[in-house]
Amino acid sequence: MKVTVLVGGVGGARMLLGVRELLGRTPFPAPSDGAPGEGESDHSVTAIVNVGDDAWMHGVRICPDLDTCMYTLGGGIDEERAWGRRNETWHAKEELAAYGADPDWFGLGDRDLATHLIRTQMLEAGYRLTDVTAALCRRWAPGVALRPVSDERHETHVVITPPGSDAQRAIHFQEWWVRYRAQVPTTGFAQVGDKDAHLTPEAAAAIDEADVILFAPSNPVVSIGAILSVNGMRAALRTASAPIVGISPVIDNKPLRGMADECLSVIGVPTTAEAIAAHYGARCAAGLLDGWLIADGDSAEVEGIAIGTAPLLMTDPRTTAQMVRDACALVGVDTPELS
Ligand code: GDP
Ligand code: CA
Repeated sequence: MKVTVLVGGVGGARMLLGVRELLGRTPFPAPSDGAPGEGESDHSVTAIVNVGDDAWMHGVRICPDLDTCMYTLGGGIDEERAWGRRNETWHAKEELAAYGADPDWFGLGDRDLATHLIRTQMLEAGYRLTDVTAALCRRWAPGVALRPVSDERHETHVVITPPGSDAQRAIHFQEWWVRYRAQVPTTGFAQVGDKDAHLTPEAAAAIDEADVILFAPSNPVVSIGAILSVNGMRAALRTASAPIVGISPVIDNKPLRGMADECLSVIGVPTTAEAIAAHYGARCAAGLLDGWLIADGDSAEVEGIAIGTAPLLMTDPRTTAQMVRDACALVGVDTPELS
């Protein structure tokens, strides 16, 4: 079967561990003869990854959500922080700070920097982000096809009123999140970059050919929302033949990690499973969802969306695999039994 998952960073990567546990390893990059190798699955899992967090810093291109997925699936993630490389050191960051180089608030690790250097070289040589990501995945063997939603710049910026000022300005989402911890008067989000930023052919094919499409319990605004705002994305989803089912990022009406509630409150959506489902909307009513899986104990009712409940804490790949099975079952899609 073919499964396509829309993902951000940490929540998205954890969900992908569960999908891979359930369906086995998708060869990625695809082998030249097209046949799965030893230990690889006949099923195929594609992640469509948010690029809204991407940024230029110190002359290199940073892709936080792609890297979080790649390092998590490839076994290189720092598990405690849940982002960046394990056994990281910070010499380059310290040296940059000693020069007074801006930005000084971004956590650029030495090991991580190597990824950004290679990516930047390849981008400057004219390769698409899609191809650069596949090339980096030769090393990490994620077992899931990682596809940026767009090859063009499509960055999330945030309109704020900085401390000590009454003039609004827009800053990159990373600055809002990492530097200000979202604790600054904020009026809205805007995508900045290439106004024609479009869904890639690979992402479009993954939606078109899917047997089921899943929304990871990623941030509904700056992860899933940023993906949905790419030209061509909503139309592709609305016309997809596969059912679409989302997994709630809130448990007990609280987001788990990250700042979904800060982001949701900026756009006026309460942090509840029901409000987020209504925000995505039912596919039969100009929205996107056929199904919405919420945490045991939460409740939601949205006309046109099938609601199911299950344990949604992604504590380990096996538990998460069961959550993925439950999500698929909600829209009538059978998946292999967990052994
Ligand atoms: P980011 O890009 O690193 O911020 O990560 P994502 O956008 O992919 O995911 C962040 C969201 O994942 C947060 O809003 C959390 O509420 C949600 N999340 C994190 N862990 C879990 C979990 O175990 N279960 C569920 N249901 N949601 C989770
Ligand atoms: Ca992110």
